[in-house]
Amino acid sequence: MTDRELLNRVLELFKLCDSNSALLNNLLKNEFLHPSFEQRSILNQVDFEFILTDKAKKNEGLVEYYLDSPDGCPYRAEVIFDGKWYLKSFLFLCQGCFGNYEECNVCGGSGWGVL
Ligand SMILES: [Zn+2]
Repeated sequence: MTDRELLNRVLELFKLCDSNSALLNNLLKNEFLHPSFEQRSILNQVDFEFILTDKAKKNEGLVEYYLDSPDGCPYRAEVIFDGKWYLKSFLFLCQGCFGNYEECNVCGGSGWGVL
């Protein structure tokens, strides 16, 4: 499975699952989540359908995908290679700073998700 195929499988699960816990269980069952994945971000998930907008390859083993929810909220998915491809993170753009404030108390300066 390529990094893109993994992302597509993950996005399919988002569409199919009718609750956050079902989504998390399915992601775990399919072994899509890297051990470093913050499971809380799935339990707090509010959007379940996404449009892929961009891709940035960080290095051979790490790819970032940028997505939009139907109402236009930007998300970032990190896909990491660790024996096979895994979802490393799935976070929405910080609504406190929009990624523009290094000392943001909401996201901790990463620009994505909440602390
Ligand atoms: Zn922030």
